[in-house]
Amino acid sequence: EKGSQRPHIAFLPTPGMGHLIPISELAKLLVDRHQFTVTIITFSESQNRAQEIYLSSLPTSISSLSLPPIPLSDLPHDARIETRISAAAARCVPHLRSLLLSLASSTRLVAFVADLFATHACDAARDLSIPHHIFIPTNLLYLTLMLQLPALHAASPLDFHQLEDPVRLAGFPPIPGSEILHPLQDRKNECYRWLLEHSVRYLDADGILVNTFDAIEPEAAKLLTADEPGRPPVYPVGPLIRSKAAAGEEGAQSLKWLDDQPPDSVLFVSFGSGGALSAEQTEELALGLEASGQRFLWVVRSPSRLNSAAYFTGQIGDDPLAHLPEGFLERTAGVGLAVPSWAPQVEVLGHPAVGGFLSHCGWNSTLESAAHGVPIIAWPLFAEQRMNAVVLVEGTKVAMPLKQRKDGVYERREIARVAREMMEGEEGKLMRRRAKELAAAAAAALLEEGSSSIALLALAERWKSFEAV
Ligand code: UDP
Repeated sequence: EKGSQRPHIAFLPTPGMGHLIPISELAKLLVDRHQFTVTIITFSESQNRAQEIYLSSLPTSISSLSLPPIPLSDLPHDARIETRISAAAARCVPHLRSLLLSLASSTRLVAFVADLFATHACDAARDLSIPHHIFIPTNLLYLTLMLQLPALHAASPLDFHQLEDPVRLAGFPPIPGSEILHPLQDRKNECYRWLLEHSVRYLDADGILVNTFDAIEPEAAKLLTADEPGRPPVYPVGPLIRSKAAAGEEGAQSLKWLDDQPPDSVLFVSFGSGGALSAEQTEELALGLEASGQRFLWVVRSPSRLNSAAYFTGQIGDDPLAHLPEGFLERTAGVGLAVPSWAPQVEVLGHPAVGGFLSHCGWNSTLESAAHGVPIIAWPLFAEQRMNAVVLVEGTKVAMPLKQRKDGVYERREIARVAREMMEGEEGKLMRRRAKELAAAAAAALLEEGSSSIALLALAERWKSFEAV
């Protein structure tokens, strides 16, 4: 009898570990605290070894299914990643519909949750009268911008970077147009149109879940958790970050090296799962770190002209360390450790030796840093990272900015100066203190009486009250 089964939720994360991990962590909370079972539906395009290993490590009440391959070969070869993801989500509807139908026949399916660029996939749930929600793996800043987008679009024919005045979003410091979400920077690009559609579709959802917590975006949290007619309820349910895992052999090297370093002395340098730098920028960073004299742990990627080059594979080229400047590894041996492609970031940020994080300000990285009380040096690359950086520097005040040259390059002297200030300066000390306060608030949000737990409880109660289809 279905009525006696545990309620079931189907999630559809779009490709990228940065989407899959928070959704899986949310699934674990729903299983552990609220007695749900969960199916995670993935796009076959996102399949890779890291994802497979990750999915198979999840508890048995969380199963996974893959959609069949979705042809996208008719898209222009330079179609942006957001366009590809959105188109894949729109085209998967017939498959997804039969998949949800079969889930509904074997489980007590009470809701479907699509992530931020998969709003068109919600049509499948709507056809079957299954409530649908949107999961935002990034923040309230993104959501505020998107809810405002139709009005911003109507107000001016200019691209954001052409605007003279900064963009004002309720609850945030003014954001220069040039720093606004990257895929919105060119109205003529197809991905702008997709995002505009997503922004309108967000309003149709039965609710919007956001991987954030009150204390990191306090004013926006107050505004968006208040009821507002015409806008779905918003649930800040974070920080949902990957739980610590066995680091594996490669990861063990980083952690063992950290064990020998003094507390708060190491600058961790990493650009997310997909960030890559140009050859020139890689050299500037190497020489900047060296000149700073600071201890560092650097996750090195092979240089690329495309700064999101490694997004799907996690690595490009064969030996990233081979691209470092001549003699760099020898000269910095003992002071710094360069590791190829990947480090166990959550464990690294949680290690007492780490006192700063040179980061691309991807939201998962930001949450992991916040949760471990590590202040950031902001080096945004793509997606919403530039606006995250503005808010972390000027709003939350847990990040230091790096000044860019006119052509966008960060020079070695600037990198050395800011690294020194972060690790040894007064400003760095102050930021570490603030970051540690934020970490306490992040932990509190997830306690039983914490803001994120209360939000999730409210949502779980709503879901449980939906009739199984
Ligand atoms: N990550 C990691 N080791 C690495 C690089 C990244 O474990 O060497 C993880 C990191 O902990 C985070 C995710 O990959 O959970 C990156 O997500 P984020 O949103 O910061 O950036 P994105 O990868 O989406 O650009």
